[in-house]
Amino acid sequence: MGSSAKPCDTAPMIAGACLCGAIRYEVEGPLSGFNHCHCSTCRKHHGAPFATVVEVPEARFRWISGGDSVFEYASSVTRTRAFCGVCGSVAPALVEGRMLVPAGNLVGDLGVQGGVHMFVGSKAPWHSIGDTLPRYEGPAPGWASEMDRPTVPALQGATHGSCLCGSVTFSVSEAPARWMQCHCSRCRRGRSAAHGSNTFYPLAQFTWLSGRDLVLKYKPPEAERFMVCFCTQCGGGAPVERDKVPFVLVPAGLFDSDPGARPEAHIHVASKASWYTFDDGLPQFAELPPA
Ligand SMILES: [Zn+2]
Ligand SMILES: [Zn+2]
Ligand SMILES: [Zn+2]
Repeated sequence: MGSSAKPCDTAPMIAGACLCGAIRYEVEGPLSGFNHCHCSTCRKHHGAPFATVVEVPEARFRWISGGDSVFEYASSVTRTRAFCGVCGSVAPALVEGRMLVPAGNLVGDLGVQGGVHMFVGSKAPWHSIGDTLPRYEGPAPGWASEMDRPTVPALQGATHGSCLCGSVTFSVSEAPARWMQCHCSRCRRGRSAAHGSNTFYPLAQFTWLSGRDLVLKYKPPEAERFMVCFCTQCGGGAPVERDKVPFVLVPAGLFDSDPGARPEAHIHVASKASWYTFDDGLPQFAELPPA
């Protein structure tokens, strides 16, 4: 090693954790960049508009705790998806010697910006990419192509939604009462993504079709109302029903077809990820929109 090389003990270490904190790990920087993935598998797994993944060699990744909370789901013959069995956050997964780490679960300034968008050909119809980063219709160079999920038959007068494995299914009708792109730290960690995309449907417009008994809820102990739900078979996002609240929160990443409506605004932008820059024309509010 040359005399100008940094000793290993000063390499920037970046901490990561799931929403509940059971799973902790660290990554040795510097990071190479972000892959914003719009494939339907990532959208289902995260329950988000897209996934943002950081790729690191296995030797620069270290588990700290919570390995026994990591559950796995084979999303294709070549890919395994990992998640926290307590809170449903996406967990890092080893793919061909590289750890794929969800950027939404890394803490602090990651010291890198930019990246690329991939599988833009599978992008959610309701999501607009708000930056000028390079875009690939399919995989970015060096990425294996994971097959998109099979398409779900269209429903008459309703929008179908499902988790990653397809066991949890539901439908919604008409337009949601609200639809917010939420950048709060809980949505980012819970969805393991740049931000959440939360639709709120009145109870009468929401129907469970299957798998409700597979859904697990997690509410951070300090949270007043916030909670996430996930499918215990695949770790994919699931609709959130809360006591005494007449709306079901449906993560928009779960929609199987175009619900017609569009997000209204970005909220909690004051808490947004430092590595994510966007301007898609929607209003942006530092916290909540004015009542
Ligand atoms: Zn967890
Ligand atoms: Zn993907
Ligand atoms: Zn599932």
